[in-house]
Amino acid sequence: MDLYKQALADPSPVYAETSSAACRSSGFPSQVSIDLDAVAANVRSIKALVGDTVSLMAVVKANAYGHGAPQVARVAMENGADLLAVACLEEALELRRAGIGAPILTLSFVPADAVASAIALDLTVAIFDLEQARRYQSAASGIGGALSAHLKIDTGMGRLGVLPGDALALCQQVAELPAISLEGIYTHFSSADASSRFTAEQLSRFCDSLAQLEHQGFRFKHVHAANSAALLTEPASRFNLVRPGLSIYGLNPLGAGQGPAWLKPAMSWKTTIAQVKTLPAGSFVGYGNTYRTRGSETIALLPVGYADGLRRAPRRWREVLARGRRAPVIGRISMEKTAINVSHIPGARAGDEVVLLGKQGDDMISAEEIARWIGSINYEVVTSIAPRLPRDFVCV
Ligand SMILES: *Cc1c(COP(=O)(O)O)cnc(C)c1O
Repeated sequence: MDLYKQALADPSPVYAETSSAACRSSGFPSQVSIDLDAVAANVRSIKALVGDTVSLMAVVKANAYGHGAPQVARVAMENGADLLAVACLEEALELRRAGIGAPILTLSFVPADAVASAIALDLTVAIFDLEQARRYQSAASGIGGALSAHLKIDTGMGRLGVLPGDALALCQQVAELPAISLEGIYTHFSSADASSRFTAEQLSRFCDSLAQLEHQGFRFKHVHAANSAALLTEPASRFNLVRPGLSIYGLNPLGAGQGPAWLKPAMSWKTTIAQVKTLPAGSFVGYGNTYRTRGSETIALLPVGYADGLRRAPRRWREVLARGRRAPVIGRISMEKTAINVSHIPGARAGDEVVLLGKQGDDMISAEEIARWIGSINYEVVTSIAPRLPRDFVCV
């Protein structure tokens, strides 16, 4: 238990601290703000929706989708989450170091040589293969420890997981491994956001497996399948535990106009105008001379670029908000500079706040809108904002 104790005894001050002051002085000319009240409200809304008989596992992988894992995890636990999920051991270690003692499931792969650490950190791992289970068994018994695990079934996603036809045999063989205790069973949907038919198909394969396992005497404390989209659209997928990620952050897992009204986006991203100038007609802007002014145009330079996560290619970030109005990005986005056209925004000047993601005045640029511009999904928009930019945690 040494590593675990050490992690708890030595919480990093950055993670233990949710005040904004430390972050503001970071020296980066753009700020990512996380509204922890929005996270709290989203978690409470999900909890109210699924009810008291269903536990909530908050998915905080990839630094809580770019929102700051320790802070989001803490707020989620305080507002109704019972367990946490991360991708890998390193992410779990960050939470333990921040003093978070909640149960944590690692959704992705944990190599057998990391089993001692997983036990020390009191983690639960995913099991989906007999060879893997045997390696875990020998690593765990080698240190005289026991490893908690959830069995993952691949009901149609085609990623990690044992195929339903092999689940019973795997379960029987894992039951013979004394250092591994199967405390849960789960599957993951491939298209809960788009195809209710395929989701129903995966659900029925999962239920068949559960019935077969139960018939042979296998019962699990935690049975889970639903991501955000499934928990919203398919109540039968909730079992006794749901695994939302996206909706915790207030982002919409369903099509435009189909998400619930209670979603409150938690992330915003702002910068400041570094310079404003008026260029004569026929001037070029940016690398490659891809933009040329038609008439006299007033442009503003922003001290952010693709190194911060402002997507350059193949389809770029298109607009920002300045003085409550939309300003188009012009020319190529550079590594840490971007030009916008402010000819139609009188009074725009150096020092003005510019919103890249979030609200300004009556307008708002959402992660969903940016996803449409760059040809991606809201998940990728928020996880692509550079981790090096400090997150400024706001709560009232
Ligand atoms: C990321 C992930 C989730 C969360 O999905 P959302 O769509 O963000 O709610 C749930 N389960 C697994 C296995 C995941 O990898």
